Amino acid sequence: MDTFEYNPNPGRVVFGSGTLEKLPDEVARLNISAPLVLATPRQLACTELVRGLLKGNIAGVFSDAAMHTPIHVTEKALDYAKANGADSIISIGGGSTIGLGKAISFRVGIPHICIPTTYAGSEMTPILGETIDGVKRTQSDPKILPSTVIYDVDLTMTLPSAVSATSGINAIAHAVEALYAYNTNPIIDLMAVEGIRALASALPQIVEDPSSRSARSLALYGAWLCGTCLGSVGMSIHHKLCHTLGGSFNLPHAETHTAVLPHAISYNATVVPKAMKKLAEALPESNGNAIHGLNVLLEKLQVKRDLKYYGLKEGDIEKAAEAVAGSSYWNPREIEKEAIRELIRRVWAGEPAK
Ligand code: NAD
Repeated sequence: MDTFEYNPNPGRVVFGSGTLEKLPDEVARLNISAPLVLATPRQLACTELVRGLLKGNIAGVFSDAAMHTPIHVTEKALDYAKANGADSIISIGGGSTIGLGKAISFRVGIPHICIPTTYAGSEMTPILGETIDGVKRTQSDPKILPSTVIYDVDLTMTLPSAVSATSGINAIAHAVEALYAYNTNPIIDLMAVEGIRALASALPQIVEDPSSRSARSLALYGAWLCGTCLGSVGMSIHHKLCHTLGGSFNLPHAETHTAVLPHAISYNATVVPKAMKKLAEALPESNGNAIHGLNVLLEKLQVKRDLKYYGLKEGDIEKAAEAVAGSSYWNPREIEKEAIRELIRRVWAGEPAK
């Protein structure tokens, strides 16, 4: 076995169905008494569940969380937290809400309980991406990692099947890049393969029957594992592309990941044969070919594959290629600007990955 390093991220996880009921115990465990509850406008009802469970003992509700954690929203939430004497944060929702929770808890140094309701995986990472004047900046610090994560399958039952599909592929993308990360290790490898397998099995079932609790449970379990991969090892070209496209052209996060993933894998495939073999084994109906397996899965999920549909302009292709090729980061294959431009063009047009 090769030499490796493994740094498990600290943090407590409670997983199951109906686990939101354990929130008062988790609040007591952290010795906090005035949490600020965060959500997006769409998930205001979830904040009422939290208020009820904590018998009204909250500092308040801030329900303006937004995609890509814009700094002006964080500043507004910070003022609200201070004015209401918040001693902690409870974020209930997807990556947008959790991102806001991280931004506040990191700045103020207060505990953060996350209750994720999508498969994006932010709850398991010490990473914070924020948008300042339309530019997305990312930082990593162990203090960004939430204290406690409560996964409650019941809260994911309302996630529309189309959003479940793209959010699940977003999770799979973390595990795929973990398989060929420069600093991967056998433990993360196990989690990556298991996470991909769980989601690849669960997502088509959810699209067919969004009320399947067993499929929802398997998907959330997979999302946890994939989020752990994202939080533990370095990501490469796929995440760089999505970060640039999402942050600079305001494209939707999970949908962008879904459109880009087959092309990013195709870009790296020839130089990472071992990772491709593991990925192919984790994807049903791959016939030993990872890209084919992913294409089959995406067809079953009936997801959109062209970024022009989400508003990327043809003229943005060059700008995105310059940004991706111009910044320095590790990738198993050298970054070649012409090939990156062609990759982005194919994603823009919705042409299949080869
Ligand atoms: P999101 O949080 O923006 O959620 C999308 C929409 O779905 C929102 O309106 C939300 O309220 C709604 N929603 C969420 N759960 C629901 C449910 N169960 N039922 C009904 N509606 C529900 O989307 P996302 O894809 O989860 O997160 C994207 C954001 O997270 C991006 O800003 C991305 O950069 C960030 N992110 C960060 C990390 C990290 O490690 N820092 C990791 C992944 C994603």
